[in-house]
Amino acid sequence: MQPADNGSRADRPDLSAFEGVDFSEAEHRNIIIIGSGPAGFTAALYAARANLEPLLFQGPEAGGQLVTTTDVENYPGFPDGVLGPDMMLKFEAQAKRFGADVRYGTVTTVDFSQRPFRLMVDGTKPFLADAVIISTGASARYLGLENEKRLLGHGVSACATCDGAFFRDQKLALVGGGDTAMEESLFLTRFATDVYVIHRRDSLRASKIMQARAKANQKIHFIWDTVVEDVLGEKEVEGVVLRNLKTGETSTLDVGGFFVAIGHKPNTGIFKGWLDMDELGYIRTRPDSTYTNIAGVFASGDAQDHVYRQAVTAAGTGCMAAIDAERWLAENPPAEAPETVEAASRARPGNSTGS
Ligand SMILES: Cc1cc2nc3c(=O)[nH]c(=O)nc-3n(C[C@H](O)[C@H](O)[C@H](O)COP(=O)(O)OP(=O)(O)OC[C@H]3O[C@@H](n4cnc5c(N)ncnc54)[C@H](O)[C@@H]3O)c2cc1C
Repeated sequence: MQPADNGSRADRPDLSAFEGVDFSEAEHRNIIIIGSGPAGFTAALYAARANLEPLLFQGPEAGGQLVTTTDVENYPGFPDGVLGPDMMLKFEAQAKRFGADVRYGTVTTVDFSQRPFRLMVDGTKPFLADAVIISTGASARYLGLENEKRLLGHGVSACATCDGAFFRDQKLALVGGGDTAMEESLFLTRFATDVYVIHRRDSLRASKIMQARAKANQKIHFIWDTVVEDVLGEKEVEGVVLRNLKTGETSTLDVGGFFVAIGHKPNTGIFKGWLDMDELGYIRTRPDSTYTNIAGVFASGDAQDHVYRQAVTAAGTGCMAAIDAERWLAENPPAEAPETVEAASRARPGNSTGS
């Protein structure tokens, strides 16, 4: 069977993982949710309360990005703040309370050419789903330093909006040179006394307007041609070790926090060739909805949002995805025999093709 062709996808999906796999005995679910961050668990909660008995695969990072942080102070409903991992346990418990089936496992291949959709979990376990909700998030890029990882959530952060307020009246370092780095450094000046932007080159990638704004801010200081070699501190960040790439000279900068703003990578590789994405790999959804270009496949959370990237917005779109999926399933009940997605889209008037 050929994948549905939307004409704008260069890569063709590799379906060799499905060769010789017998799907006749595969578990068949109304909805499979891929990912266990705020988007996935919220989608599971809503789908479970709609009696759709969703199955959710947690993936490589159970609980999602928030398990890598400490205090979350901007999620509504927690006036005293909450630890990221604790919050995600609550998300999970709430979804399970209504019957969501939450399992360990990573979806490794998908076949969106026919309904029911075919999914392979951990490379060997086949599943069928009448609708799929993607909530695979995006991973912040880090420098890859050992102490950067050790001090994550203890002064190291990849999210100024999330963590900036913890650094009132402190000196901060930020690494990066694009628009996001400029936005984040400007945001940090609301709290910090000084923000040192460390950049490996002698000019920025950021747009002229963002550069101008950052350069005009008295609290922002640029350190050019320089890389961060280490992050210092026992329990909290106390400084960073810098190396000038032109002179080879190393120095220490005393700061109370270290922000990494070198980009995010959406976890959408397995959907390449099926779903429309932007140049960075974020899934494109139809405006004001979670519909993708494949009818019956919905996308929520950071996997489709490179703008807001917050737990509350991820949860919001997780809710939207479950409601979209529920309504779409009501209009497009499963066929008795497998049918192509294109045929399914044509067959029933009034259905949503998502294109
Ligand atoms: C250090 C840090 C601190 C932050 N602090 C805050 C904060 O204070 N407040 C705030 O609102 N936001 C904060 N954020 C942002 C917030 O964490 C994200 O916006 C939010 O987690 C996105 O939710 P999501 O459900 O879209 O994806 P994620 O949380 O990224 O979850 C993605 C999920 O998908 C799973 N997955 C990926 N691939 C597969 C696969 N193939 N099969 C199965 N599962 C898969 C992963 O295992 C994971 O469970 C912070 C982010 C970081 C990095």
